[in-house]
Amino acid sequence: MDKLIAGHKRFLTDVFPERKSHFHLLSEGQAPECLFITCADSRVLPDLILGTEPGDLFISRSIGNVVPVASQDVDGVTATIEYAVEVLKVKHVIVCGHSDCGALKAALDPKALENLPKARRWLDHVDVAFAHRPPLNPSDGESAELAALIRGNVVGQLRNLRAQPAVVRAESEGRLAVHGWYYDILSGRIERWDEGLKKFVALV
Ligand SMILES: [Zn+2]
Repeated sequence: MDKLIAGHKRFLTDVFPERKSHFHLLSEGQAPECLFITCADSRVLPDLILGTEPGDLFISRSIGNVVPVASQDVDGVTATIEYAVEVLKVKHVIVCGHSDCGALKAALDPKALENLPKARRWLDHVDVAFAHRPPLNPSDGESAELAALIRGNVVGQLRNLRAQPAVVRAESEGRLAVHGWYYDILSGRIERWDEGLKKFVALV
């Protein structure tokens, strides 16, 4: 906690004064162009890896970067999608998975979730990963099986995303594009799902 308090002090003395006019503008409203759906993992920092600023990204985070589909329950992710697409009118939605994701590790080893009834139920949604796994990538080394499953989960969640009523509507009106990304923590690189090629390719 001390680290957070010290960090906030630095923010107030060093960062905020320099950007005061930007924050003044933001205090009146937001108009982000992207909804970024990613995992809760502490190693994934969208603003750091994308060079984005306050106001740029509307972000939804949950373990496994899941987009529940056909759920009768209300859940935070789909409510966030609906708001971002219908109210904020974002132009892009990105589903971003990441290497070494614990949610997909658990999918490979369900015993890990034995005493976690809520996580287990939530992570039922990552089962789609198995159906969408791309071939193993030798450059992933020992983690190739896990990495393929994480990429498969991105493709599966992207499919779930496109089934959301707000997304179906916005896509049909030609005002929304959806993207599936895989972020590799070790190399820092992002891959994007190419729907035409049916494989992941380097983003840059
Ligand atoms: Zn994760």
